[in-house]
Amino acid sequence: MTGFNRVLETRVFMEEKLRKMGEDACGALAKAGSLEELNGIRVRFLGKKGELTQILRGMGGLSAQERPRIGQVANEVRSAVENELEARSATLKRLLREQKLRSEGIDVTLPGVPLLRGGKHPLSVVLEEIQEIFLGLGYSIAEGPEVETDYYNFEALNLPKEHPARDMQDTFFVGEEILLRTHTSPVQVRYMERTAPELPVKIIAPGKVYRRDDDATHSPMFSQVEGLAVDRRITFSDLKGTLDLFAREMFGSKTKTRFRPSYFPFTEPSAEVDISCVMCGGNGCRVCSHTGWLEILGSGMVHPRVLEVSGYNSEEVTGFAFGMGVERVAMLKYGIDDMRLLFDNDLRFLRQF
Ligand SMILES: [Zn+2]
Repeated sequence: MTGFNRVLETRVFMEEKLRKMGEDACGALAKAGSLEELNGIRVRFLGKKGELTQILRGMGGLSAQERPRIGQVANEVRSAVENELEARSATLKRLLREQKLRSEGIDVTLPGVPLLRGGKHPLSVVLEEIQEIFLGLGYSIAEGPEVETDYYNFEALNLPKEHPARDMQDTFFVGEEILLRTHTSPVQVRYMERTAPELPVKIIAPGKVYRRDDDATHSPMFSQVEGLAVDRRITFSDLKGTLDLFAREMFGSKTKTRFRPSYFPFTEPSAEVDISCVMCGGNGCRVCSHTGWLEILGSGMVHPRVLEVSGYNSEEVTGFAFGMGVERVAMLKYGIDDMRLLFDNDLRFLRQF
């Protein structure tokens, strides 16, 4: 009996010691002010040589039946301390973060600084609109190099060397036979060379072109959109119908077009196309020099020689071509009076679109 009592006393004593240790540990954790302190407490109570281990050493005086009971209490105490440790650690981390934010002067309750959002450049807006209209008519988009050979820029377009019409385009020459293209028309020949003799050809070719001009209505770099349609039985009325529809889509349904005879070496016959003034509707104003009309593009039936050098039989197929300045269209559409504004990158100007 005495033996049993001794064991019972030891067990009760150990249980008490364990529970006391748990309370001490939790009390210490609640008072800890740093993560280092928390770690110190963990080592002191739960570490390999900590208090829990010390208490459990006394298990040697217990009977085999009593040991599981003590093991269970020890586990309860251990997990209670571990929970407390975790909770206290989370609280401390939050407090430290808040303290850091305060000391750095960051007020997380202030509204954020809005990011400035860019807009599209008026030239991009107009170019996309032009593309949209012609894509709707079944055209596809073709491209060509901006540094071009004399052959594609002039000769293949029926502008042989010494041709006086070369003077119409003040050219930047890069080398003897290399230049910055003066128009997007070389794309016509480059494209047809690849597709001949397939039909139909229906492309627009947007891109930058370069000429030695610089004033309020001319820039040394500007953008053009070339158009080309080649097929059997394409006539001048197809050209008129296409450009008439373009003008109405681009400038409004009341817009009228007017074709004036003109000259381009690569089209025959050729025409300048005017639209009724977008400012006065055709009554006459300062913008249209009181004529009621505004010139927007050049056009014509593709010259047989251009078809031939590109690999098409000019006896079997015909085509029309046109070219327009994107800046010119943008200036008319938005009433811009100086082309250089389009290239100045002045946000006060660009934000208006
Ligand atoms: Zn007018």
